[in-house]
Amino acid sequence: MDSKIKLPKNKPKSSLFYLIIVALIITAGILILNPDSNTSKKISINTFIEQVKNEEVKSIEVKNDRIDITLVDNTKEYAFKEPEDTLREILAEIPEEIRTGIETEIIYTEGEAFWMNLLFSIVPFLLIIGFFVFMMKQAQSSNNQAMSFGKSKARLSDKQRNKTTFKDVAGAKEAKEELIEIVDFLKDPTKYTKMGAKIPKGVILVGAPGTGKTLLARAVSGEANVPFFNISGSEFVEMFVGVGASRVRDLFKKAKRNAPCIVFIDEIDAVGRQRGAGLGGGHDEREQTLNQILTEMDGFEKDTNVIVMAATNRPDVLDPALLRPGRFDRRIVVDMPDIKDREGILKVHARGKPIAKNVDFTLIARHTPGFSGADLENLINEAAILAARQNKKTISVNDLQESIEKVALGPAIKSIVLTKEEKQIVAYHEVGHALVGHMLPYCDPVHKVTVISRGHALGVTWSLPEQDNKLDSRSKLEQQLAMALGGYVTEEIVFGEMTNGASSDLKKATEIARRMVTRFGMSDLGPIIYGDQNQEVFLGRDFGHVKNYSEEIAAKIDEEIKKIVNKGYETAKEIISKNRKLLDEIAAELIKKETLTGKEFSTFFKGIKVPKKISFAAISKK
Ligand code: ADP
Ligand code: MG
Ligand code: ZN
Repeated sequence: MDSKIKLPKNKPKSSLFYLIIVALIITAGILILNPDSNTSKKISINTFIEQVKNEEVKSIEVKNDRIDITLVDNTKEYAFKEPEDTLREILAEIPEEIRTGIETEIIYTEGEAFWMNLLFSIVPFLLIIGFFVFMMKQAQSSNNQAMSFGKSKARLSDKQRNKTTFKDVAGAKEAKEELIEIVDFLKDPTKYTKMGAKIPKGVILVGAPGTGKTLLARAVSGEANVPFFNISGSEFVEMFVGVGASRVRDLFKKAKRNAPCIVFIDEIDAVGRQRGAGLGGGHDEREQTLNQILTEMDGFEKDTNVIVMAATNRPDVLDPALLRPGRFDRRIVVDMPDIKDREGILKVHARGKPIAKNVDFTLIARHTPGFSGADLENLINEAAILAARQNKKTISVNDLQESIEKVALGPAIKSIVLTKEEKQIVAYHEVGHALVGHMLPYCDPVHKVTVISRGHALGVTWSLPEQDNKLDSRSKLEQQLAMALGGYVTEEIVFGEMTNGASSDLKKATEIARRMVTRFGMSDLGPIIYGDQNQEVFLGRDFGHVKNYSEEIAAKIDEEIKKIVNKGYETAKEIISKNRKLLDEIAAELIKKETLTGKEFSTFFKGIKVPKKISFAAISKK
């Protein structure tokens, strides 16, 4: 998609090459036309003197150092004399009367000789110089590092081929709407400038990885049909200090020459991190680069029609100076796709692939909550590979389902062999999750239970929401926590002790509880947020801000977490104890079949009363 920078005004690259060819032809021509007359014979100067002495010579013609001789019998010969010897000196020993008997003509061609000499001495030099210039140009154009170190490596997108447009971007409706404005401006800047409107210089796309930020930026340039300079933030960061800044300068210079155009800095957090913070060395270079970007953006004149777009998935680490008005002041959030978007994205990527007729993309979209656009693209690709491996003609529903699991849970590992006892433990553990989940109305319906290992897990209980939801209620979190502990509790009840297989379940449960206490105000500690919003420590901001509460509060937080986890534990324990018979039945079936679908699982609950979810609407009526 990218091509090397080749600007419209480019002169024909090989003009120098032609010049060299012409010079070669001229040289060759001169050499060929040089009067090495074909009929005459070359003789030595001594032979010549001898012939003169013997009175064999009829006439002489001297032209510079060449002596053309015609003998009495009309044979033609020629000889060369040394430049400093004159004819008189050469023939000094010859008696006067013989000499005068010879017809002598001396042609002075000094001027011509001078030019010839000059030509012969200069042409090789010209050729050598030309060759070097030619080589240097070659080296430069082939992106040679040594020759263009400080140059920006921005790539100018090819406008003709592989044009990305908004059609290739499914969903992301809000982002597209905002970007259409930019496209409109780039198409006809004067429309806006006439109104005195100031168009944003900088637009920053913010969103999780794989949500299509890079894709959107490309689509903007495709729609507007303007040059698109694409560079990744990390390309500014090199081993040598100052290179980044010089690349920025170069990039903006190129952009201004090609205005209106888009400069797209992908992954800007690589250079745009908060200055004067962070761990480790090397941020001097980043700071210089960042400063240069800021300077360039400030230096735009009013009517520089260059729009700088940037993308990041870490807006929280960006330097505030970047986000200030007049710089990247337009912030466009690219959300994770919802169910409708996912369907659209699947359809975009299914284009041109032989998909079986009975494939229902709505259903696949429903089975892929939390998948980003990149995941969905990957999903379709995996399915295509799977179908191809089995020499099928079309991609079937099964291929797609299998790929969903592969992308969501990691590849199935059939090589892990469990002992009979281990298999029993894993089966009970998973059924424990599923059973608790089924009995608790706010847990998502069980989609699949399996004892086939996937990724890191020995067995998997997979539940899927009926629809995408953006809000999690307290009850839901509590019940999810109980479900996470379902496996642990089951092991305890059935086998009398636990295994280390429940470790990640415990981690999940603790995390839910911690978030409930410190983030959501769902405990007796009240509606207060404890700790920094961005709890994860990352390079680029100080450690010190994370904990903003006292030791006393810390102890209380731990206590509250323990209370919440305990409550979930009790809930799970109660469900498992009460349904022990059901647990045994389902576990036996799972050991036999290794995988139970959601449907197969729910057949065990015929005639058993399962608590119903209370809808929010019903609550508000009370
Ligand atoms: P980001 O830059 O946000 O990390 P990309 O733009 O590189 O993500 O997206 C990765 C891939 O995922 C794209 O090449 C595209 O194929 C696919 N993709 C992501 N979002 C969408 C979308 N909304 N519509 C179609 N394809 C998408
Ligand atoms: Mg990207
Ligand atoms: Zn588990």
